Amino acid sequence: MARTPLMAGNWKMNLNHLEAIAQVQKLAFGLSDKDFDAVEVAVLPPFTDLRSVQTLVDGDKLKIKYGAQDVSAHDSGAYTGEISGAMLAKLNCTYAVIGHSERRQYHGEDDATCNAKVKAAYRYGLTPILCVGEGLDVRKAGGQVAHTLAQLDGALADIPAEQAASIVIAYEPVWAIGTGEVATPEDAQEVCGAIRARLAELYDAELADGVRIQYGGSVKSGNVAAIMAQPDVDGALVGGAALDAEEFIKIVRFRD
Ligand code: PEP
Repeated sequence: MARTPLMAGNWKMNLNHLEAIAQVQKLAFGLSDKDFDAVEVAVLPPFTDLRSVQTLVDGDKLKIKYGAQDVSAHDSGAYTGEISGAMLAKLNCTYAVIGHSERRQYHGEDDATCNAKVKAAYRYGLTPILCVGEGLDVRKAGGQVAHTLAQLDGALADIPAEQAASIVIAYEPVWAIGTGEVATPEDAQEVCGAIRARLAELYDAELADGVRIQYGGSVKSGNVAAIMAQPDVDGALVGGAALDAEEFIKIVRFRD
């Protein structure tokens, strides 16, 4: 199956709502219909930017998709500081990142939390971008595949095939995030291929064939083409390089 690559920019805690408008405008000016025919482009701004991004995208009928960097596992109520799936759906978000390593590391999110958040995302029609990937110690011990697949199994527990068919998995080795140290294309393929094989075991081969698996970890215009050449890599989750609109556009144009 031909999978449309998904290039998604995770802005993390960068760019206020005015800067977000400027950034989306730069992307809108720089990208053409030809780009959007070949690649799906998404931005993942902080929550406080989403309304501004929505207004811009709706007003100018932009083809850029957007989503949130997290979603609450809860539907509503006394959960101070949390943002619900219903709120994100109301803003027409397409995506919700779930289980980013920074959420796992700094906010104690585990696989059960990710599973609850994946369920919450689907309750509101959001597509999860589920992040999985090993730390340096696990990689050095050669445990990257087992570790990543265990995260996948945990996050997908009880998720029916009708929902899992639309999920996006981001394989993000923690040691490569924000470090400038990128996985080799072969390293990325090893784990992305194993993720697809596990999806075939959990569901079926057809579903696995349709799921997009991104690589994330220090992706830049200079290394994206080699990673994208791997058969089981269908896009990139881009952090630092997504803050530079020109660089992000070059990443979107990885085939050029
Ligand atoms: C990320 O935030 O998911 C990420 C991959 O960051 P960076 O591209 O900066 O490594």
